Amino acid sequence: MVNHGIFLFYGCACNFIPMAKYLIMMSSSECNFCEPSSFSERMISSNEHAISLLSSPRLVTGHSLVIPKRHSESLDDLSSDEVQAIHELISPIYRRLLGTIALGVDVWQKTRPSIDQDGVKMNHVHFHILPSNPGEEAYTEALRWSRDKFEPLSLNEQDAMLDILT
Ligand SMILES: [Zn+2]
Repeated sequence: MVNHGIFLFYGCACNFIPMAKYLIMMSSSECNFCEPSSFSERMISSNEHAISLLSSPRLVTGHSLVIPKRHSESLDDLSSDEVQAIHELISPIYRRLLGTIALGVDVWQKTRPSIDQDGVKMNHVHFHILPSNPGEEAYTEALRWSRDKFEPLSLNEQDAMLDILT
């Protein structure tokens, strides 16, 4: 059974949908994530459709990535099999980080076609898995955005967004 529910935890998709028309597909020959030999020493695991690896550069110790094997720059381009394969690689990393070096784990997926690809930003769809520990800068910044920035949802905004999303 495919578990699509995991995407509920992967950040805000609201900036993904209106920007989708601006996505520019690049050749997979220009993509490091399409060249497993470029990160084979950092690979954690793989299955039929996905690969997990340590991120380099990384934000915190244990920062890992899960990517589809096929070059894709859009979440809605992933097949159900690829989504399932990605989930199957995220789960063990999530469990192992929580059981060892992390009190919490953040999982991110961002779609930002307005930023050019470089040594940090990759267009190939990828999910970040980040250990989260109190006192670390990444933890403090994540808390700022996951707690301090929350505001009540107004009825006007609710209606406008439901018009778009339903
Ligand atoms: Zn790629």
